[in-house]
Amino acid sequence: MRRRASARVAGFALAGLLTLVLPGCSVSEDQEVELGRRNAEQVDAQLPVVRDPVASNYVQALGTSIARTTERSDLDWRFRIIDSRQVNAFALPGGFIYVNRGLIERAEGLDELAGVLAHEVGHVVLRHSVHQIEKQNKTGVAVELGCRLTNLCNSDVARAAIQVGGAALFARYSRHDEAEADSEAVRLVVNAGIDPTGIPTMFRRLLEERRTSPLGIEAFFASHPLEEDRIVATEHEIAAVPPSALRGLRRDDPSYQAFKAHLAWLPRAPEPEPNAVSP
Ligand SMILES: [Zn+2]
Repeated sequence: MRRRASARVAGFALAGLLTLVLPGCSVSEDQEVELGRRNAEQVDAQLPVVRDPVASNYVQALGTSIARTTERSDLDWRFRIIDSRQVNAFALPGGFIYVNRGLIERAEGLDELAGVLAHEVGHVVLRHSVHQIEKQNKTGVAVELGCRLTNLCNSDVARAAIQVGGAALFARYSRHDEAEADSEAVRLVVNAGIDPTGIPTMFRRLLEERRTSPLGIEAFFASHPLEEDRIVATEHEIAAVPPSALRGLRRDDPSYQAFKAHLAWLPRAPEPEPNAVSP
């Protein structure tokens, strides 16, 4: 049923995906970037991206400082803020990364936002969504997966993503992928000179909020399976980093707080009505 519906609304993104992935079982880097670029165009057109240059340049600079330490530093990495109170962050194939304003508002220190961005960078570096496409491609169901991965087969889905948490907007990663991205995030923030303890700190804050007031946060949990064990595993990763490598790393700085103050001052995009779009 779902596959039929996806096929029926075959639009720009879906047609592109078919061309990109049907000829073979593996996805080249060029194909990955092209897929990500097309879908990023649609995200930019359909979700309320923050256009303010001060705010967007800050996230771009912070994200780039992390991404350039990776083995995929040659990708044209792009980091954007989506103007939604909901907590969320996601990566499209090829290095197109989005973080919701609601998540930034909850990240008290530089190290916490850096940890989230590094986790998303980790998914791209490890090509998690590409591997999902390749796996599904072998079994001939790339069409549906393409829709699910990119979620951009129709604009209603993309709009609904803000409300329902964006779960459909991008890959639902396995627990294994999440653990790998966490581990990669620890490595990447340390390489970028930022304290990795922001990663478990942010996780704990989100888990606590889920317990007390889950409304604005279910989206994040729908796409990022997060339990206590993931936090403990991340703390173990950090404990394994040599103390000399942790010395002097940044937890926060005035420019991050200035960025947050600037963001708080910006007018908000209207939130969608709860029942305006059905996913
Ligand atoms: Zn993840």
